[in-house]
Amino acid sequence: MSAPVSASTVPDLLIAGCDVLPGPGEERRAVDVEIGGGRISSIVDAGSAGDGSAERIDGTGLLAIPGLVNAHTHSPENCLRGIGEGLALEPWLLRMFGSSGPYTPQDHYDCALAGAVEMLELGVTGVVDHLWMTPPSVEAVDAAMRAYRDIGIRATVAPLMDDHDYTEDFGAAIGADLGIGGMSHHVALPPAEELVAQLRESLASWHGAEGDRLRILAGPGGVQWASEELLAGLAAAAREHGAGIHIHLLETTLQDRVCRHRFGCSAVEALDRLGILAPDCSLPHSVWTSDGDVELIAASGAIPVHNPAANLRLGSGRAPIRALLEAGAVVALGTDGSASSDNQNLWEALRLASLIHNDAAAGRWLTSSATLAMATSGGAAVIGRNAELGRLAVGAIADLALIDRRGDGVAGSVDTTAALALSESGRGVRHVIVDGRPVVRDGRCVTVDRDAARARLAEQAARRSPTASRPPDKTRRAMEEMMRFRGTAARLTDNEERETT
Ligand SMILES: [Zn+2]
Repeated sequence: MSAPVSASTVPDLLIAGCDVLPGPGEERRAVDVEIGGGRISSIVDAGSAGDGSAERIDGTGLLAIPGLVNAHTHSPENCLRGIGEGLALEPWLLRMFGSSGPYTPQDHYDCALAGAVEMLELGVTGVVDHLWMTPPSVEAVDAAMRAYRDIGIRATVAPLMDDHDYTEDFGAAIGADLGIGGMSHHVALPPAEELVAQLRESLASWHGAEGDRLRILAGPGGVQWASEELLAGLAAAAREHGAGIHIHLLETTLQDRVCRHRFGCSAVEALDRLGILAPDCSLPHSVWTSDGDVELIAASGAIPVHNPAANLRLGSGRAPIRALLEAGAVVALGTDGSASSDNQNLWEALRLASLIHNDAAAGRWLTSSATLAMATSGGAAVIGRNAELGRLAVGAIADLALIDRRGDGVAGSVDTTAALALSESGRGVRHVIVDGRPVVRDGRCVTVDRDAARARLAEQAARRSPTASRPPDKTRRAMEEMMRFRGTAARLTDNEERETT
């Protein structure tokens, strides 16, 4: 933790007499934590801090932990929970985009706000919102950012942008026309130039806003949905502002086939050739990465973001998280959007990540220290703040959650880190602080009217429900075509595919 603390910083908040978990596997009992200017200014033995001038939070019986970072979600899906059960990613996407209806800027604001209420009350202090918009617009980004500004969460928005569906080109090449199963029939795919201009505008308005609590990332939807012009243009615009790139990677085998057909190499190798693979690049999913891809990702410093709940819900497969960690990659953790993971509870993702990679036959396990690091310091790396966020130490940014030691997640545990990864559900979160400011007290978000936020989300879900629960004929036909296409592509042998390249 290298950030300096000014000697003149006057503590304005004192958490008195708590225990603290600075990072996975570490623990210190009975301390006072002082916070000033948004940073932790001291951690000393209980009873030795404070001259009485700072606001005091009684930390008795509470455990301070670094706030969790949800490193991948899509806020518009907060009002689409439960949609499209029993579907793989591609037909599920058609189902969602073909039946959810339009979003006004107010809709985007309401979705982002309600999701932030849910996350903050669970101790999730940071979020990366890969914000899809139908169609992409600066106004939609503004609306989501205003919500995050108002509620006080640490938010990074990656406006999701696509300009071409290369799945359609792949279909034409193998003689299996996708018909209306291609994305171009269902979502706007504006020219690259227009999208890059939009990103530049959002970067100028929001990157570094609110004392750097709000940030922007470039957010191409995926290699299979973006031209090289778009990928390079978005990456260049972001990097001019010191921002990075957030891009879905290899969630399905079809995406792998499409990318190999297009580039003659894997999507990871293509990103590397385009100069995108770097420590400022984060890669949600990374499920169908080969051994070579794993090595390349680790060597580049790019950060895979694991989304176990969404991968299970859509039957996408299991990302090689153990291999990535063993290769030296920093890995982060996300819920993904609520239309595929159905909630924004990162504790659930943490528990799943801690369980699904264990293999007794191979003698390989994922430790709770590793998965808790994914949920904290891994997420901090995605937003480029791992030097000052993700651990509780003097000089660190004061984003933290205070958990009830007598709550049902931690009480009775013999190992605090294991309890956090394996049994805490978020129900034990009492107070939450972001940037040194209390945003949740006694389990309730206090910065906005949280009940009104939830009511507006419920109204929006009710408005979308008639079509979301019974998709229009065009959407149903498109889904059928896509499912047929997936079958054809899956049956294609490597030899047959090579002949079409
Ligand atoms: Zn996603």
